[in-house]
Amino acid sequence: HEVRVDLGSRGYDICIGGGALAHLADRLRAVTPSGRVAVVTDETVHALHGEALAGALSDFQTHMIVRPEGEDQKSMEGLDAVLDSLFRAGFDRSDTVLAFGGGVIGDLTGFAASVFKRGAPFVQVPTTLLAQVDSSVGGKTAINNAYGKNLVGAFYQPRLVLIDTDLLSTLPLRQIKAGYAEIVKYGLIDRPEFFSALDDGLGKRVLDRDADALREAISVSCAAKADVVAQDEREGGVRALLNLGHTFAHALERVAGYGGALLHGEAVSAGLDMAFEFSARTTLCPQLAADRVRNHLTRLSMPTRLDMSHFLGDPDSVMSHMRQDKKNSGGQITLILCHDIGRSFVHPGVDEAELAAYLEDIAP
Ligand code: NAD
Ligand code: ZN
Repeated sequence: HEVRVDLGSRGYDICIGGGALAHLADRLRAVTPSGRVAVVTDETVHALHGEALAGALSDFQTHMIVRPEGEDQKSMEGLDAVLDSLFRAGFDRSDTVLAFGGGVIGDLTGFAASVFKRGAPFVQVPTTLLAQVDSSVGGKTAINNAYGKNLVGAFYQPRLVLIDTDLLSTLPLRQIKAGYAEIVKYGLIDRPEFFSALDDGLGKRVLDRDADALREAISVSCAAKADVVAQDEREGGVRALLNLGHTFAHALERVAGYGGALLHGEAVSAGLDMAFEFSARTTLCPQLAADRVRNHLTRLSMPTRLDMSHFLGDPDSVMSHMRQDKKNSGGQITLILCHDIGRSFVHPGVDEAELAAYLEDIAP
């Protein structure tokens, strides 16, 4: 299955399916005239799938860069290690840099590719569900620093995204569910019929890793993201809708700390529930729609706001994290809210007293 990201001369294909790795060599040849590929991966992915990738790349001259796993790699040190390895191996701009891993490896590798000799061809082969439906598409690359997450980075589009759903067989269920939150998000933003399909059983089959269900849900998700990115590559407008649930989620993540207590996707799942609960409470959206969202998540044992009491005990600090969100401007809080399932919109100038009262009311 193919999805195209329509960005003119910087457009690219997303190739999706079980066994897609078998097509990697063909697709890669078109973007790698030199026949040389640097693969950046983490230790876990390398141990589990390194041989499968090496097999798929047997016609290429490959240079492996294996990094420890974890968010810490999105740092100056991680970047320096990748760049250093590329220089030592004598790579140049006719060679391809390929990210083989989750969002951490994708973000780090994409940023390294963007600055390596002012930009080397970059390919994404994502291995987590979150990376397959979200981070590998759209060209946002970044590392973190002391001032926050993803604050040093570039918009740098890949030349190709190849998604092999077979790679998900080894992914822990907790990570599958974290990725599923982003899938639900696309339905809630502007694809109500997709949300209905997920609710009617597609969602359960995705969590069970049914191959057809994965292909379908990942294809719709990538098409949804590709659509938004094609309209607004640099997030001046509609791309902000992709942040549905995310201002709440980021506040939860900040309270929880980035030590693994709460995965990003877990926070997003609860954040989607909160965006609908807050929309219903402020009469922007029917209560029935908010109920449907919560029921869907609960039925699939996905986290909702009700599971977050541990992180919602101090409404003032949740509020202060929400005030620091990147989307805000001019001292006003901007949230993505919904009129209904599939009818999201950007709401600048959210009434702070109303938001504070909500956070107060849901605090345990
Ligand atoms: P991750 O890259 O840390 O991967 C999660 C864990 O799964 C890691 O321990 C990894 O080693 C392991 N893993 C990966 N593939 C596996 C497989 N097939 N089988 C078994 N284990 C596997 O986390 P993630 O959730 O994929 O990505 C999170 C990162 O993505 C964050 O840094 C976030 O900022 C970033 N992100 C970026 C964008 C974007 O647009 N660029 C969007 C969303 C998130
Ligand atoms: Zn997200």
